[in-house]
Amino acid sequence: MDMGISGKRALVCASSKGLGRGCAEALAAEGVNLVLNARTKGPLEQTAEAIRATYGVDVIAVAADITSAEGQAEVLAAAGDIDILVNNAGGPPPGIWSDWDREDFIKALDANMLTPITLMKAVLPAMMAKGWGRIVNITSKSVKAPIAVLGLSNTARAGLTGYVAGTSRQVAGSGVTINNLQPGMHATDRGLSLAHKRAEESGMSFEDALEEATANIPARRYGTSGEFGAACAFLCSQHAGFIVGQNILLDGGEVNATM
Ligand code: NAP
Repeated sequence: MDMGISGKRALVCASSKGLGRGCAEALAAEGVNLVLNARTKGPLEQTAEAIRATYGVDVIAVAADITSAEGQAEVLAAAGDIDILVNNAGGPPPGIWSDWDREDFIKALDANMLTPITLMKAVLPAMMAKGWGRIVNITSKSVKAPIAVLGLSNTARAGLTGYVAGTSRQVAGSGVTINNLQPGMHATDRGLSLAHKRAEESGMSFEDALEEATANIPARRYGTSGEFGAACAFLCSQHAGFIVGQNILLDGGEVNATM
């Protein structure tokens, strides 16, 4: 299927690897020119070069912390006029309810709620003036089914989801859609780190730890960043203009719910 977005320009945050890179590659495969971002310059430049070489699209790479005001300003200045925004950043650390103080919540809200909100506010006026735009936020399955040890993430991402629910309906009439993708377990460095930790701590093999981790996923495996990126590219396509304010779970069936 032709997504109809060849020649458009996308900013994909936190995209040197993992789910962000999956989204960047899927958009590049559709002929979308990219602005990529991550904090560490070397791997970011390598990813940018690999995408240029594979897909022949223009790629600008901006090494900056997207959760800081300076980083956001730098990335937005380099991005300029964009048609597509994919919001992403690292997730907050695990813990237990009694661990977290005000400062921990402020940090998590800054990174996983206020950063995407700031970027959306910055790019929405131009998208609305053009009458076309696509915004996808990478959140988490934890918005639908809480992961107790990720209380900071549950909280910040639920807040972002509430903001998107209202805002997406305010801007849809201008041809701009905002939707959230909710990843379950994916085979990225972050996703696999839990199985590595379990193997280390228990003495079991990595393969056994992975089998244990996927036992409750009906698909019996982790998702791939390629599958995730394909869903993102579809939400950014011409065909997805009637999908507004939705939360789409990519979890192999792990969240056991009818809707
Ligand atoms: P990953 O494989 O660790 O990749 C994270 C990417 O984001 C890297 O390119 C990293 O590069 C960049 N990054 C991290 N913090 C950044 C920041 N402050 N500013 C700019 N770039 C930043 O992680 P992932 O698995 O793709 O996860 C992406 C998001 O999805 C996270 O928020 C995670 O919590 C969420 N999620 C993932 C899963 C899963 O199974 N993978 C499940 C649910 C939710 P640098 O380190 O160089 O900055």
